Amino acid sequence: MTMNLVLMGLPGAGKGTQAQFIIKDFAIPHISTGDIFRAAMKNQTPMGLQAKQFIDKGELVPDEVTNGIVEERLAKDDVADGFMLDGFPRNLNQAEALNAILAKQGKQLDAVINIHVEPEVLVDRLSGRFICKSCGATYHRLYNPPKVEGTCDVCGGHEFFQRDDDKPETVKNRLAVNIKLNTPLIDFYQKQGCLYQIDGEQEIDQVYQAVKEVLTKLSANK
Ligand code: ADP
Ligand code: AMP
Repeated sequence: MTMNLVLMGLPGAGKGTQAQFIIKDFAIPHISTGDIFRAAMKNQTPMGLQAKQFIDKGELVPDEVTNGIVEERLAKDDVADGFMLDGFPRNLNQAEALNAILAKQGKQLDAVINIHVEPEVLVDRLSGRFICKSCGATYHRLYNPPKVEGTCDVCGGHEFFQRDDDKPETVKNRLAVNIKLNTPLIDFYQKQGCLYQIDGEQEIDQVYQAVKEVLTKLSANK
């Protein structure tokens, strides 16, 4: 069974949260361009330093950099049986680049899952988000705290951090940038016939039930 997926949604819609469940049940590599950039920034690689200038302002990293990273990642062997992109594509140029990368490999997308959340909800989601330092699991101060306060449910870690770009000064611009680009991207995938809309304003478990239903049907038909 091969599943080539894109997980779409505005910042804070719940992509990373749902990705944690999807990879458990469907065993496909999770490719988050945001995670790739954060790792590169942490290691202070030239690409990381370049990306940081944009990320700190809530802007998109230029397409030539981002598309190149995705092309390189999709050339690795572990995506032979499928993958889940998270946070890519974010504009039409990237969507077209992705189709071209896949076409060269004789592949295509099976589904684009759009987690829809109204923009008003997102500021709250992003400002309350915190992440486990050792395993990257995502929590929310109010909506999704760890079961035992101060202890990560996944790895038992005790150290957490807030992303720099989740601070209020950056959140506003990040949302504005992404909202503008989102509608044309949704139209693009609607026309391509592979878009699935999920209501992302339900409880986390309910969102996952809806996602799982789509993916289970998809994998049964493959
Ligand atoms: P994204 O990866 O799309 O930016 P995240 O998965 O990191 O979003 O979620 C953003 C924040 O919202 C996190 O703090 C997360 O715990 C919380 N969250 C995710 N899904 C929901 C939901 N359905 N309801 C309430 N809070 C949610
Ligand atoms: P994310 O973790 O998906 O919220 O991404 C964090 C930041 O990384 C974004 O605000 C962008 O600056 C950058 N980024 C992530 N994915 C992309 C992408 N597909 N294109 C351009 N920039 C990206």
